[in-house]
Amino acid sequence: MAKIGINIATGSLQQQEMIVGIDLGTTNSLVAIIHPESKKPVVLKEHDGNALVPSVVHFDETGLATVGDTAKEYLITEPHRTIFSVKRLMGKSYNDLKAHADFFTYRVIDDNTESLVKIQVGNAFYSPVELSSLILKELKTRAEHILKTPVTKAVITVPAYFNDAQRQATRDAGKLAGLDVLRIVNEPTAASLAYGMGLRQDETKTIAVYDLGGGTFDISVLRIAGGIFEVLSTNGDTYLGGDDFDRAIAEYWIGLLGLSREELDQHKQLGQELRLRAEEAKKHLSFHDTFESAVSGEKVTLTKTKLEELIGSYVQRTLDCCKNALADADLTVKDIDEVVMVGGSTRVPFVKESVAAFFGRKVHDSMNPDEVVALGAAVQADILAGNNKDFLLLDITPLSLGIETMGGLMDVLVPRNSKIPSKAGRQYTTQKDGQSGMRISVYQGERDLVKDNRKLAEFNLTNIPAMPAGLPKVEVSFLVNADGILVVKAKELRSGVEQSIEVKPQYGLTDEEVEKMLLESITHAKEDIQVRALVEAQTEASQIIDTTQLFITKNRELLTDEEVAATTNAIDSLQQLTATGTKDEIHAAIEKLNELSRPYAERVMDTAISRAMKGKNILK
Ligand code: ADP
Ligand code: MG
Repeated sequence: MAKIGINIATGSLQQQEMIVGIDLGTTNSLVAIIHPESKKPVVLKEHDGNALVPSVVHFDETGLATVGDTAKEYLITEPHRTIFSVKRLMGKSYNDLKAHADFFTYRVIDDNTESLVKIQVGNAFYSPVELSSLILKELKTRAEHILKTPVTKAVITVPAYFNDAQRQATRDAGKLAGLDVLRIVNEPTAASLAYGMGLRQDETKTIAVYDLGGGTFDISVLRIAGGIFEVLSTNGDTYLGGDDFDRAIAEYWIGLLGLSREELDQHKQLGQELRLRAEEAKKHLSFHDTFESAVSGEKVTLTKTKLEELIGSYVQRTLDCCKNALADADLTVKDIDEVVMVGGSTRVPFVKESVAAFFGRKVHDSMNPDEVVALGAAVQADILAGNNKDFLLLDITPLSLGIETMGGLMDVLVPRNSKIPSKAGRQYTTQKDGQSGMRISVYQGERDLVKDNRKLAEFNLTNIPAMPAGLPKVEVSFLVNADGILVVKAKELRSGVEQSIEVKPQYGLTDEEVEKMLLESITHAKEDIQVRALVEAQTEASQIIDTTQLFITKNRELLTDEEVAATTNAIDSLQQLTATGTKDEIHAAIEKLNELSRPYAERVMDTAISRAMKGKNILK
């Protein structure tokens, strides 16, 4: 039964607040909910019956933003004020994008740095997070309008390959739009959920999710077991989609009509009309065999067969990606139990048939392919609302996470491939007497030395009360939450002082980078082991030097001059070897120093014990 509350301020009855599912797409975005009565996921539609909101933002001369269909109309006439494909910019620097700089018709600031991109419209600058938030705000307003209730909580989907920075940017955009983003979910996971896959604990399946949208293609291979989703591999092409089909059709017509580039440049409106008509033709041919219309008074036609010929090479490219994704997951088509079709472009029958033929099985296409991700997000939202308690949706960490310890060594807390959410902790202590601060540096990677890994964050645990070295107990804990965001906490257990940070890396890693880092860790494994052994010997040496020096100063009167001289000598040579010697030489010198100090250390100990026993009753 749904909970009903009373708003004390207004005296009105309130339904328990709904959590919406949002598909924030490159081309289109939309919102879905679980219908309160039917308990089935449904997309929210305006009166015109349209659920899709084009992910386009237009700014007028005064800087006023409009989002959706109205904004889309300016795409060709006011390209520099009309922002599309914001999703491609999320969490990216100009360097990340420059290979595709031509793609953007609006001004992407080229500051040639590693910092996050900005878009310039007139005199104003916008970050991708701000632009996405405008789209999300529009979706929120629509949802509130349709549901007639405030909407403040959401689940938002992102591509499976989105890295931490892109996920965080999406989360930030939600926050900026006034939404509490309860979870970021992978799009292929959401699509599978919409088809009811993964909702049974005893189900084990391998699923291929084929997502061909407006401008991007993604293939993801997922494994569900015990209600847990794991991404086995992802592949695709971030510049391949239905827009390419439209372009191919328009080019074909331009050829038939004998239009020159100059004519098209002069008549931007004509180009726009051709593209819109081309998309119309493509969509029409998903359900009919021929298309006939007119562009500027000229008749244009297209047959289904011709369309297939025009798009054949694009479809083949998607199949090549599928092949790669299977290879990466170490699977063959026979291992795939289900194939899920996602994205508006999979409505093209030729696409569907080609994919079915490739996988050698019937594909899931009963739901609207451009709605299925949002519907799945609504299913996830419902699970989070506590209406479906048994489920947790999990992913895995692609690289190990750890902190820097003495000598620049990587101490791994969360090994790679850990299921998330994941929690790990370990205790550390201070190296110097009275040390009041400790630097916690967080790294990601597989190498033994942090310098070869990627630094994610750094902070200081301060105000540790004065204690002898080795006494403070600093517990460092890592929590990787369900969105893959890492929270690092350090706490000195004796005093209770603590400090924590949320790691919002400016740059996450692409699949290729992860792969490269893994490969490097394998090729350098041997030398890494040697380096680690050397660093450990050096650390041990410097600790022994410290304690021995301290011992001598404290107990000077109990030692002979010869003993002090010999020990100081041994310390000096160990110190020298620490900088230049091999691991074995350092160990030998440590041993020598120990041998020298052992006799007088024992003597001092005996004196201390006899002092302590004086005048005391010892019980047996
Ligand atoms: P995205 O996930 O990139 O935001 P969508 O899943 O909404 O995009 O897909 C948009 C693409 O789907 C557009 O290229 C659009 O032309 C195409 N599309 C929508 N309906 C059809 C149809 N009936 N036949 C062919 N393509 C279609
Ligand atoms: Mg999509």
